Amino acid sequence: MPDISKSEAVFKGLCPRCRQGKIFRYSAFNPSRFADMYEHCPHCNFRYEIEPGYFWGAMFVSYALSAGIALVMGFVLFYGFGDPEGWVYVIVIAPLLVLLTPINFRISRVLWLHFVSGVRYNPNL
Ligand SMILES: [Zn+2]
Repeated sequence: MPDISKSEAVFKGLCPRCRQGKIFRYSAFNPSRFADMYEHCPHCNFRYEIEPGYFWGAMFVSYALSAGIALVMGFVLFYGFGDPEGWVYVIVIAPLLVLLTPINFRISRVLWLHFVSGVRYNPNL
């Protein structure tokens, strides 16, 4: 199997060690199962939760992503729509963040695994 780049593995939600096994069991668009992860990589058997509570740190990534999205939407409303009243910001931004929760959750965990775990890519697995 040809090597795939780290960015492609992150985008597709693949194991940081072999870049072939999936991290999540179901689609991000499955509203009740989007958070279900494999305990071990289906390809190389790498344990995703490296230590108990490992993914707590991904919450900080998630928070940063949410704050970034809220900030960008705030700028769009402020400069694109002439600074509407405060409730408009809430009506637009809060549902958007709720709708993006599955994607935000998954991106946070994948980024945390790929960039913080210290796991090295091994193409020979
Ligand atoms: Zn793997």
